[in-house]
Amino acid sequence: MGYLPNFLIWMIYIVVFIFGLIIGSFLNVVIYRVPRNQSIINPPSRCPKCNTKLKWDDMIPLLSYIILKGKCRYCGTKISFQYPLVEFLAGITFVIVFQKFGWSLQFLKWIVFTSLLISTGLIDLSEGIVPDIIVLPGLILGVLFSIFSGKTGMLESIYGLTTMGAFFLIVILLSRGGMGWGDLTFGAMIGSFLGFQLSLLTLLLAFVSGALTGLAAIIIKKKGRKDTIPFGPFLSIAAFVASIYGFEILKIYLKFLHFS
Ligand SMILES: [Zn+2]
Repeated sequence: MGYLPNFLIWMIYIVVFIFGLIIGSFLNVVIYRVPRNQSIINPPSRCPKCNTKLKWDDMIPLLSYIILKGKCRYCGTKISFQYPLVEFLAGITFVIVFQKFGWSLQFLKWIVFTSLLISTGLIDLSEGIVPDIIVLPGLILGVLFSIFSGKTGMLESIYGLTTMGAFFLIVILLSRGGMGWGDLTFGAMIGSFLGFQLSLLTLLLAFVSGALTGLAAIIIKKKGRKDTIPFGPFLSIAAFVASIYGFEILKIYLKFLHFS
């Protein structure tokens, strides 16, 4: 895109951001309805408190929340901050993916991946479950993209998903309750997109950030040593970082090993 005038490049980024906001607004529906076994298509969105059917201008990503000052127009109930947060998160991550991969099949692959990470990570955070109905089709998508995108390759995708699956299987058997099957299926899905090397990096990043957060929570005494923190959100963040900066991080890491 080096030949386009600046303002055009800005326009493209803004369009990608708005596209992310719209997908984020759809992800909000997924995050709320999938754990409750509701259809994500029907019925149309309603206020969960007063049950009033929402109009189009109640559902403009980000803007409606700001204009309505975070309250339902009809009953005044506070709207969860999670809604604008997810919209913004999708918008900003889509821009980061676009900056990295440009207009290509890779862009499509990694925004699908990012959407799977946001929805699964937040469902795990709020409900403590990883829905098979999201991660199993996601796993198949990961393998399919690897065939068509050509870069990762199907073998690499299979290595990634089996490495993650085997790793979590061992952890589940050893920890007896610390990790669940949801971590295994979510991990395998991530592996199918990322391939072998970036899967290892994701595990490293997720465990380090998870351990530090757990430690911080114990220190500020919000959690006892026995309370569990869902691991899904850490996997989500780690996998996103690996998908964008993974090979750069590995390069720096290997360089560091050589000089020490
Ligand atoms: Zn209401």
